[in-house]
Amino acid sequence: MPIDESKPTYQIKVLDVATLEGIDSSFLVNKYKPGEVIGVPTYSYLILGDEIPPILVDTGVKESQLDIMNRLGMTATQTEEQTYEAQLAKFGLKIEEIQILLHTHLHIDHAGNDDYFTNAKIIFPRKELMFSVADIMDAQYPPEYITYLVEQIHVPGKLRLIDDDMELFPGIDLEMTESHTWGSMNIHVNTEKGHAIICGDVIYSEDKQCIGNEIFTEVTAHHKKEGFAYGDRSTGNFWNLWAAKAGVQKIMAEADIVLPIHDPLVVERYGYEIG
Ligand SMILES: [Zn+2]
Ligand SMILES: [Zn+2]
Repeated sequence: MPIDESKPTYQIKVLDVATLEGIDSSFLVNKYKPGEVIGVPTYSYLILGDEIPPILVDTGVKESQLDIMNRLGMTATQTEEQTYEAQLAKFGLKIEEIQILLHTHLHIDHAGNDDYFTNAKIIFPRKELMFSVADIMDAQYPPEYITYLVEQIHVPGKLRLIDDDMELFPGIDLEMTESHTWGSMNIHVNTEKGHAIICGDVIYSEDKQCIGNEIFTEVTAHHKKEGFAYGDRSTGNFWNLWAAKAGVQKIMAEADIVLPIHDPLVVERYGYEIG
């Protein structure tokens, strides 16, 4: 999609906030090399612009409790430089300056540190809170911070639970999607480099799911066929396979810049600053 000239453009900064290890490849890409264990980064995204307050997308693994990932058979590490304090400082910001938190979803490695951001309003789909409380994906929704988020319902003005797609600011759109969890959300951002979509865990590996895959060759075939949406292989971690595959295709058809939370291809391509 081309840049929308009628709307402002924004900058997106990549925050590298944790490293996850011990993940089976078939968890990342459905049925891909089961038994092969790899590591991935965990990112948050900072959205900045002249007319908007600083926005942070996702808050990573709980810093005071990194062993929380053991519940999924994974490990999380975080260097001093990967803390939110240090990552935000790279861009001249302090934790208390973040005014809006958005969540792609509420899995164990995506909303762990919301309690740091005492000045932020938190926005995500109501369905995701319902899904996380209902325990449908078990250990992926840890009570330690899901309970905290439920409590914020009772803090006036703290949580905004959305029920439909919405324009947050001109050029920043929130899209409900069921493509990873029931209440996942994509964040569309107009940038000078094109239409960016922060897509949470709908895509773990753009390369293996959408561009080239030495085992599932239909991915490569789709990629090469001009005018057709790219390969639609889902991740191995979904609540609904149909929705997961459809969501991958939609993102690949719409985005110039695909920004998953765990895909090192983002930094390889763009570095830590986009637009
Ligand atoms: Zn997830
Ligand atoms: Zn994740």
